[in-house]
Amino acid sequence: MIFSHQWARDLEYPSASLMAFQKLLEPCDDDVLEARARSSTAISRRYFGRTMRLFAPLYLSNECINSCAYCGFSRDNAILRVTLDVEQMACEASYLLQEGFRSVLLVAGEHPKFISNGYLKKCIERLVPMFPSIVLEVAPMEIKEYEPLVEAGAEGVLVYQETYDLEAYKQLHTAGPKKDFHWRLDSLQRAYEGGFRRLGTGVLFGLAHWRAEATALAAHLFFLQRYCWKAQLSVSLPRLRPAAGNFTPRFSFSDRDFAQLLFALRITFPTIQLVMSTREEAAFRDAMAPLGVTMMSAGSHTEPGGYTGQASEQLHHTIRGKSVPITCSSTHATKQFEISDDRSPSMIASKLVSLGLDPVWKDWDSVILT
Ligand code: SF4
Repeated sequence: MIFSHQWARDLEYPSASLMAFQKLLEPCDDDVLEARARSSTAISRRYFGRTMRLFAPLYLSNECINSCAYCGFSRDNAILRVTLDVEQMACEASYLLQEGFRSVLLVAGEHPKFISNGYLKKCIERLVPMFPSIVLEVAPMEIKEYEPLVEAGAEGVLVYQETYDLEAYKQLHTAGPKKDFHWRLDSLQRAYEGGFRRLGTGVLFGLAHWRAEATALAAHLFFLQRYCWKAQLSVSLPRLRPAAGNFTPRFSFSDRDFAQLLFALRITFPTIQLVMSTREEAAFRDAMAPLGVTMMSAGSHTEPGGYTGQASEQLHHTIRGKSVPITCSSTHATKQFEISDDRSPSMIASKLVSLGLDPVWKDWDSVILT
C-alpha cells in the first residue's frame, strides 16, 4: 500500500504543484476560461501534434459480484447477462477491425466464476495477431496475476477509482471485493510492477463534489508520474449516464466544469493522454476535441455481443453465481450504460479531420522492438 498512504499524505500536506492545480479549479470568469482553453490547445499541439487516438471498447462479460450503486452490471440488478467465449469475442473483434480500429479496450465485470485470469489470457492471445494495442478494464489483480497478461500481449490497464471520497465510496460499494478502497487505489502501481506500460485512471463524476474529486485525482497522477515513470498515463472524465438500477447523480458536473477540469489537467499534466468517451454528446465532443482531448472512443457498444449479436442465445440471469434461464425473448445483453454519441467511427473520424485533427487508429507495432 505504498501509494494509498502517500496519497493521503499528499492531500493533507499538498505540494506547490497540487496547490497550483487547485487554483485552476476555482470558479473563474469566461475570459479566464477562454485563455485556459487557448493554453490547453497550445500545450496539446506541442506534445501530441494534431493527433486523436481512437479506440473501441469490447465488452467480454457483464457478470459481476460487486454491488456498485451506479452501475448497470451491479449484482443487485436483474439484468440479462452473458460472457462471450473466445471465438464469440473474436467475431466482435473482427467487426471492430473492419471498422478501422487497431486499439481495443477489453471490458469485463468482476466474477471469478466467469472471468478468470486464464480466460483473459486466452482472449488476449487470440487478439494479439489482430490488434497492436490491447488494454484491459477488468477487476484489479495481484502483480503475479498481471504478469501473464502482459506476457500474452496486453499493454495497458485502466482502473477508475470511481470516487476518491472515502465516505461516498463506502456508501456506493456495499458488497464484493470492490469494497476495498485502498486495494483499488493501489491497482495501477501493481499493474505497473506486473509490466504494463499504459495506465489509465479517472473519476466517475456525479458521485461526490467534482473539485474535491479532481484534487484527489491530481494527487494520484502526481504519484503515478513519479512512481510509474516509464508508463504512458491516461485520464478519463466519465459522467454518469442512464443505466439499469436508475441511479441518479448526487452532484452536478456541468459542461463548463468538464471544460475547466480538462484545461486544468492539460496545463498541469502536459504529457498525459486525456480521454473523452461516447458518454458525451456529439456536439460537446466536437467542441472539446481540439482543446486538449487526445483520445476518443467511437462507435461504442457497452454490452457483450453488442457489435455483432454474439451469444444472444446464451442470455440468462445470474442469481447467487448460478445461471437462471430467461423467460423473455430479448436478443441483447443489458448495457452497462447508455451512450450519447452514436455516430459511426468513420463519421467521427471525418469530423475530426474537418476540425483539423488527425485521427490515429494505430500508434504502436511490436515490430518496432524487433
Ligand atoms: S462498476 Fe465494475 S465492479 Fe462495479 S458493478 Fe459495474 S462492472 Fe461490476
